[in-house]
Amino acid sequence: MNCPYCGKEMRLGQICADNLLSWTPDGERASGGTRWRKSPNSIVLAKYYLLAQASVDAYYCEECKKIVIDVVSE
Ligand SMILES: [Zn+2]
Repeated sequence: MNCPYCGKEMRLGQICADNLLSWTPDGERASGGTRWRKSPNSIVLAKYYLLAQASVDAYYCEECKKIVIDVVSE
């Protein structure tokens, strides 16, 4: 994948989390007390599975210091 900012080739990697990894709109907060908690408008990037970490592929541009993640529909 090429960087949408500078056009150079981006480096593929993974972002991992022990819990649910999600994007939440500014001003909203996750509710509930479980590790699955998320705001109704959150976009889930990676889910935690029983014995594995939450993990999602992400492209990194070393030039721009940007990371791009594809959202996988639930
Ligand atoms: Zn770039």
